[in-house]
Amino acid sequence: MAGSKGPGAESRVRTIARRPAGEESSGVRSAPPLSVYVHLPWCIRKCPYCDFNSHAVLDGDEVPERRYLDALRADLEAALPQVWGRPVQTIFVGGGTPSLFSPEAIDALLTMLRTLLPVVPGAEITMEANPGTFEAERFRAFAQAGVTRLSIGVQSFDDDALRRIGRVHDAMQARRAIETAAQHFESWNLDLMYALPGQTLEALRADLREALSFAPPHLSYYHLTLEPNTAFALRPPVLPDEDAASDMQSVIEDETQRAGLQHYEVSAYARVHRRCAHNLNYWQFGDYLGLGAGAHGKLSFQDRIVREARVRNPREYMRAALGESREGPIASSHAVPARELPFEFMLNALRLIDGVPAAWFVERTGLSTLAIADPVARAVQRGLLDPDPTVFRPTPLGARFLNDLQQMFLPEQR
Ligand code: SF4
Repeated sequence: MAGSKGPGAESRVRTIARRPAGEESSGVRSAPPLSVYVHLPWCIRKCPYCDFNSHAVLDGDEVPERRYLDALRADLEAALPQVWGRPVQTIFVGGGTPSLFSPEAIDALLTMLRTLLPVVPGAEITMEANPGTFEAERFRAFAQAGVTRLSIGVQSFDDDALRRIGRVHDAMQARRAIETAAQHFESWNLDLMYALPGQTLEALRADLREALSFAPPHLSYYHLTLEPNTAFALRPPVLPDEDAASDMQSVIEDETQRAGLQHYEVSAYARVHRRCAHNLNYWQFGDYLGLGAGAHGKLSFQDRIVREARVRNPREYMRAALGESREGPIASSHAVPARELPFEFMLNALRLIDGVPAAWFVERTGLSTLAIADPVARAVQRGLLDPDPTVFRPTPLGARFLNDLQQMFLPEQR
């Protein structure tokens, strides 16, 4: 899809240095809510701006559904002792383009997850889908398989813009896909992007008007950025400048508010009770088990908080998970040093417009708030953080200069 993925789908294995001897980790007394992220890594073709772990299905090739599902099952079975007995609050099936998988495969995947994990009744189960006709015809079957929320990668309703960013669908297909999704899902999301090559403020307004005309329960609106190791990074298109992009962001905020959507995270807007519970868990520093090629996970234990990443290449991942290679499917796993936890917590929590209760910092990092007393005081003094001591919430100024605010919690800045 395009930008809606949370940390579970991180495309690059982060090379956080291993913990030097003597550097303390930190654990938690009671584990936070647990989510599951499943990565399905194939797409029809690679979009030129995309740095996710997505791989084009070669002409004539089929997505190896059966083998990949077997690998996911083996991966999960091996991971079960780490999450034993913990209820799963949400599931997110992301990619790649998960809607390339057949409804039967999605049904088998969700049945497997429900069989092996205690998924809570009424859990939000999101799946990403592209708006191609072939995929929209499957939406009903995905709902019958147990998907409760569909996230559709529309990006724009402007055919020229879609061509410029290399998308395989057109605006008409996007409209039909949205209508079909609205028939079968109460909860659904439109993924859109702004600051597209050559986009004007008027073009942005037209895109937004059209998106809002479908009364979406949830909207994710991402600023197109040039990421390293993408086709766009090699041959950069001309993008709107910073001022133009900032004007676009203001229009998005004003118009979504007028349409009854609440701006609750940097890039997310939702009606009441339609916020994405899965992404909220990432931003609130909850736990997540990441399954599938390149998936990332974060799990809390009494003596440590662990981040892990699966093998990125889908074929190697399958071989590793199925026991056909010497290595297992986990490419990296490390306990996060205590000194890095404040930044990791704030990097997520401060994305939320309403912030998070200050008590969660203690519960979810295992650290005292004294560990961040200095940067908090400085951020309040600079007008970037709300002075209310019971909550960590960016002020409007802090939200505008979010990078600066987050960086105040880096170990070397504290
Ligand atoms: S559809 Fe495009 S943006 Fe989305 S994951 Fe596939 S290649 Fe990346």
